[in-house]
Amino acid sequence: MHRLSRRQLLPLLGTLAPAGVRAQNQPYDLLIRGGRVIDPSQSLSAVRDVAVTDRKIVRVAENIAPGQARVVIDARGRYVTPGLVDIHVHVYDGVAPLGIPADPNCIAKGATTVVDAGSAGAATFPGLRRMVIQNAETRVFALLNISLIGQSTVTEDHPWGELLDLRHVNVKLAQKTIEQNRDVIVGMKVRLSRQIAGDNDLKALDLAREVADAAGLPVMVHIGDTASPLSSIVGRLKKGDVITHSFHGRPQGILNDRGRVHDFVLKAVDNGVNLDVGHGRGSFAWKVMDAAMKQGVTPGTISSDVHQFNVNGPVFDLATTLSKFLHLGMSLEQVIERATIRPARAFRFPHQPGTLRVGAEADIAVFEMREGDFPYEESSSGTGTPEIRMGHRRLMPVATVKAGRIYGNAAIPVVRI
Ligand SMILES: [Zn+2]
Repeated sequence: MHRLSRRQLLPLLGTLAPAGVRAQNQPYDLLIRGGRVIDPSQSLSAVRDVAVTDRKIVRVAENIAPGQARVVIDARGRYVTPGLVDIHVHVYDGVAPLGIPADPNCIAKGATTVVDAGSAGAATFPGLRRMVIQNAETRVFALLNISLIGQSTVTEDHPWGELLDLRHVNVKLAQKTIEQNRDVIVGMKVRLSRQIAGDNDLKALDLAREVADAAGLPVMVHIGDTASPLSSIVGRLKKGDVITHSFHGRPQGILNDRGRVHDFVLKAVDNGVNLDVGHGRGSFAWKVMDAAMKQGVTPGTISSDVHQFNVNGPVFDLATTLSKFLHLGMSLEQVIERATIRPARAFRFPHQPGTLRVGAEADIAVFEMREGDFPYEESSSGTGTPEIRMGHRRLMPVATVKAGRIYGNAAIPVVRI
């Protein structure tokens, strides 16, 4: 079957005519009008219009006349943010055990830039690049798994993780893969839970550290129910590294036996280690969040870890994870900051996402705040019954723009003039 090339496909997805036909009195390709713009990168939280020309944000101001743009999105009564940046997803669909398709789960839900967190290792990375990164409308980056087989299935049927045998780690091959894919690999990933790494956790982390240091990249470390104490793991991290699943409720968590955040965790945060959420299937415990937040410890970044076993609940998408933090009492501005400019700065992304500053790539998300009763389920240890808390606000993605193009069909009015 003949496949459409990316160049042929893009005009079908987008709604904008080529820039050459823009009339003189219509300086803008697209105007997002009347929404409350929340852009923590410039401490902006106010009703503004956002104008886009040639893929870039060109103006953010009050009252830009709609006739000046060829396409207008009516964002009145809605929230306009930079396209979300989700630094923990699994989108190696059909290959890695947790994989789901990127576009329906990321860009369609407001996340324009995502990081596949270790689905692929050196042996399986070329497929991730060719089949996912090069084809997705979502901007997909990757953390390279230190195990060359990438993620192994860890289910009841097959509880054997990718680091139980360290012969699956090959430092040279990992380094070579990074050198060949510098444009899309933004760091290393190592999963250290007992089922995945057994007693090899510290050794595996040291090997990931060695590769990351040689490449000048950070490490994302997956914690929870590790054979070694968390203090030994955190002691190996440095500025710029990321702890994902920070708020899990399993053994070897961030809380001590008095329910306080360990001093060594606080010290690591002071030293520039990022506490990421990575909600996932086992790593969002209401009680751990309560205890941490009561002590003033909030996540540095909020990511979803959306994958095959949580995309139909309890994670659904990043916006739902953000809504859970609203329920915990964080402001919308604090929550959006942790899903835009902060994750944008967590890794070296070439297109510098997470902002609506003039001159930035026009990656934009539009949300509605729905009111009602929303049961928000935690995902903690897999033991006991997950706690469900009733939330009353839910952030719903209703339109996404990437590089100035509207992705898919917006769920709100779009007018072509
Ligand atoms: Zn994950």
